[in-house]
Amino acid sequence: MRTIKFIVIHCTATPQNTRPEAIQRYWREQLQWKNPGYHYLIDPAGTVIQLATADRICNGVAGYNASSLHISYIGGVDATNKPTDNRTTAQRAAMHALVAGLKQQFPTAIVQGHRDFPLVKKACPSFDAKKEFNHL
Ligand SMILES: [Zn+2]
Repeated sequence: MRTIKFIVIHCTATPQNTRPEAIQRYWREQLQWKNPGYHYLIDPAGTVIQLATADRICNGVAGYNASSLHISYIGGVDATNKPTDNRTTAQRAAMHALVAGLKQQFPTAIVQGHRDFPLVKKACPSFDAKKEFNHL
């Protein structure tokens, strides 16, 4: 198993009703990625979809992927594409359960948002993940 230093929180920056298959197709066909962007996707119903096992590397944050696990909720922008935390109650609960479980598995991992990495000019995940998960 690789060393996990970061559990990174993302949003897809898409409409909340975007299908997971459409996101995966975009990675494959538009970005030509061989690996998924995230290990876990959380849909608005709170369903956690695992796209890759923890031992695999995903394309979440350039330069940090070798030591990161990536979690994303579907959503994160409003109708005009402005960053907004529009997680549903179910999505938020599922995210908290998932992060808590991963934190038990990888106790030394730091939980932070995509935007908390150096030189990232994105609002992803549209909320302060460091603050929200600092009790773990
Ligand atoms: Zn991100």
